[in-house]
Amino acid sequence: MTHLSDLLDTLDLPQLGAHMHAQMVDLYPICRSITGEGIRETLRRLPIPLELHEVPTGTPVLDWTVPKEWNIRDAYVKNARGEKVIDFQAHSLHILNYSIPFRGTLTLDELKPHLFSLPDYPDWIPYRTSYYAPNWGFCLRHRDLLALEPGDYEVVIDSTLEDGHLTYGEYFLPGETSDEVLISVHSCHPSLCNDNLSGVLIAATLAQMLIQVARRLSYRFVFVPGTIGSITWLAQNEDKTKNIRHGLVLATAGDAGVLHYKRSRRGDAEVDRAVAHVLRHVPAGFEIREFFPYGYDERQYCSPGFNLPVGSLSRTPFGEFPEYHTSADNLEFVRPDFLADTLEKVLRVFAVLEGNGTYLNQSPKGEPQLGRRGLYGAFGGKKDAKTNEMAMLWVLNYSDGNFSLLEIAEKANLEFKYIRNAADALLAAGLLEKI
Ligand code: ZN
Repeated sequence: MTHLSDLLDTLDLPQLGAHMHAQMVDLYPICRSITGEGIRETLRRLPIPLELHEVPTGTPVLDWTVPKEWNIRDAYVKNARGEKVIDFQAHSLHILNYSIPFRGTLTLDELKPHLFSLPDYPDWIPYRTSYYAPNWGFCLRHRDLLALEPGDYEVVIDSTLEDGHLTYGEYFLPGETSDEVLISVHSCHPSLCNDNLSGVLIAATLAQMLIQVARRLSYRFVFVPGTIGSITWLAQNEDKTKNIRHGLVLATAGDAGVLHYKRSRRGDAEVDRAVAHVLRHVPAGFEIREFFPYGYDERQYCSPGFNLPVGSLSRTPFGEFPEYHTSADNLEFVRPDFLADTLEKVLRVFAVLEGNGTYLNQSPKGEPQLGRRGLYGAFGGKKDAKTNEMAMLWVLNYSDGNFSLLEIAEKANLEFKYIRNAADALLAAGLLEKI
């Protein structure tokens, strides 16, 4: 079976980016929420055989309770002439997400407290929710709000908020060992691309690619509604958390910004060091931040009772781009090449996690004679010959049982693949043994 490192050498990034973006076009119009048909339909359409879990309303999950299921068929506001001035069918962001059902005729003044807009960005529709406080409302362009004339408005919200289920998706890819990598993405936002769909589609594509390669580690993909979904997953799968060795939350991963990594709460977990190593070799630059207790679902995985080694990888972080939580976070804002770039970096992180290990030099007194063993220029192209020799010297010297290959790569300031290749050559020559 192919190795991940070989797959990385043959990636067709433009094709992968186009593939993910095309799926985004398909999923974009769906009105997703933390429960209901929108998230269910989204998970069903993903190109991997996801197992869908349905957790009934009222189920206690850690300190929370699974809420009622929300579904919406239609919603609009009509003016006195019978014209739809706000129409849910035109954009899923028009409805205050989780709006309770409502029908009535209101004056403009009565309607206004239920309307949300962005005066600073008059052409963008905001994204607003009211999950845990029963309310109804509409979101609209500020320009359109200003154009509303005094008079009576007919309001229809054909939604339901009833006992039902919370849906989450899970896909498990077993490896040679039970040590797991957790990849978690929130899937509950309606027509928003960077915040939501970028992570969803990168995760689904990662799963499709990992199916094709030999895996030392097992991989668990979870697609959950934000906050309540990861809390539900943790509540129902606490026994599985003991196998999680590394984890990544992926979100806002398809915009033009440089990659940002938020460390796990542990701060120095292997995944934290692996991501930092991969990013250090990215020419476009990057930023690494310490853990903080808000953000996406890493805050649940890193709550003190679990404290899992789960970090979060983004491009521009949530809240730091003006398009965040507005209709401008759309199919133009997320570009195929940025999706592909994030995907490639995550695969590089996985390659480090797959290939890392600690070894013992079998000839530690003086340098072993490499030439006699045919190890000079034995592998790689001519261009890499010097790097490969240096990598062997680093691996031999620091393989005293105290340093992993990743730590040696950091000391040597060499990309992990050179260190891994050197270790393979030294293992084949009997100069190294795995601990
Ligand atoms: Zn969000």
